[in-house]
Formats: sequence, C-alpha cells, structure tokens
Amino acid sequence: MAQLTLDNIQKRYGAKTQVISSLDLQIKSGEFVVIVGPSGCGKSTLLRMIAGLEEISGGGMYIDGDYVNDDSPAERGIGMVFQSYALYPHMSVYQNMAFALELARHSTSEIDQRVRECARILQLEPLLERRPKDLSGGQRQRVAIGRAIVREPRLFLFDEPLSNLDASLRVQMRMEVAALHKRLGVTIIYVTHDQVEAMTLADRIVVLNQGNIEQVGTPLELYDHP
Ligand code: ADP
Ligand code: ADP
Repeated sequence: MAQLTLDNIQKRYGAKTQVISSLDLQIKSGEFVVIVGPSGCGKSTLLRMIAGLEEISGGGMYIDGDYVNDDSPAERGIGMVFQSYALYPHMSVYQNMAFALELARHSTSEIDQRVRECARILQLEPLLERRPKDLSGGQRQRVAIGRAIVREPRLFLFDEPLSNLDASLRVQMRMEVAALHKRLGVTIIYVTHDQVEAMTLADRIVVLNQGNIEQVGTPLELYDHP
C-alpha cells in the first residue's frame, strides 16, 4: 500500500519533443486508478517514469512522501505487469517467480514460502513445474502477475495487461485483477484501451490527452451522464 504524488511532472525527449508539460496527480493508498486516452497521449511514458524506467525531465515524484526521482526501479518498490509478459522460456513457473527474489538474495526458505503463497493466491499451484510454452494465455498472464507480486511491492503498474487475451479470458482475468486488488489492498495504476475494463476496475479514471489530464473522476462521474 502506498500513496503516490506526481507534482508538476514533465517529460521531454530531446530539446523539442515535450510529451508531458505539467502533470499533477495524487493517488491514495489502496486506490485503483485507471489511465485511459488516445494512442500517443503519453500513457506508457507516464507509467515508465513512475516505474523508474524513464527519466523524469522535471517535477517531483513521491511515494509515501519520499522523493523518488533518483531511485532505481527496485528501490521504488514497484511491481510491473506489461502487455507482453516476457516470461523466461527456459524456466519453470516456480523459477520464473523465484528469480527476482534470488537476485535480491532472499533465503531459500523465504523464497519458497513467498512463491507458494503467491501460487496459491493466483491458483498456479498445479502448474509450478511447467514451462511457459505449456501454459494458456491466461495462465501465462497470471504468472506475470505472480512475478510482480512475489516482490511484495507497494505499488502495482499494469500496462494493458489483458489486451493480448481473447475476449472471454479478458473478462475472467479482469475479475481476477479486481479480486486481487480487494484481497491485497494494494495501490494500482492500470493503463487500458478498454472502456469496460476502466469502468469495472477503477476507483478513479484519469483521461489523458496530449500529455495533459483532461478529466479525472469516478466511473460514474465520467460515464454516467444522460
Ligand atoms: P501512449 O502510451 O499513450 O500510446 P506514449 O507514452 O507511448 O503514448 O508516447 C507519447 C508520445 O511520446 C508519442 O508522441 C511518442 O511518439 C513520444 N515518444 C515516446 N517515446 C519516445 C522516445 N523515446 N523519443 C521520442 N519520442 C517518444
Ligand atoms: P532482471 O530481470 O535481471 O532484474 P530487468 O531488466 O528485468 O532485470 O529489470 C531491471 C530492473 O527493474 C531491476 O532493478 C528489477 O528489479 C526491476 N524489475 C524488473 N521487473 C520488475 C517487475 N515486474 N516489478 C518490479 N521491478 C521489476
């Protein structure tokens, strides 16, 4: 659970390309915020800046009050689930989830406990010994989520995590993401093109346009006008 503050955030690529000119946003601890907007409006750039994968050109980002502009992705305590869930193909489901914890030098027993707990929550227990190629799309996406969860992040970033799945699986996974949010009580920032996803998942929806926040509100406030 973490609170996120973006204070006058700016992003430039080179001298000329200003993608985000001044963005202010406060996200409460435990809140589920969905970001929508046309292609090219800066959604991915914003997520990557929050993750620490892209430099912030100006302004300040704070997690629970701490200034984190200069912190690495790992130091920020952020978990990411992206559209192309690049699972390690030569590793089992178990190893895929354990890998980051091994790099972080957690003890074997701690790693085992966390991976098994995660597998239980995501119903991956029967699949722990399988390779990614022997999983369905939804199962793979669940492993990708598991890989982020085992790190016990304070904040989750989802970048169109369901857009590669077929329609029925998307509905099922959407319910699972909602259940996960409820269960873990974590803060989530979620980018999607899918209006139904935005309406069903969000506590608050942020509409981006050309790098600016055009509208912010609950799904009811934004979409329930007669
Ligand atoms: P979205 O995710 O909403 O589709 P992006 O964040 O990918 O939008 O892109 C926002 C804008 O920033 C686009 O105009 C894109 O061309 C530009 N952009 C993204 N990455 C770079 C880069 N590395 N160099 C220059 N411009 C970029
Ligand atoms: P590695 O997988 O070897 O850690 P990456 O290039 O995938 O290397 O990651 C670079 C940085 O981003 C690392 O500091 C890693 O801790 C962090 N990172 C990678 N994936 C995630 C994720 N799903 N959630 C949170 N942090 C991540």
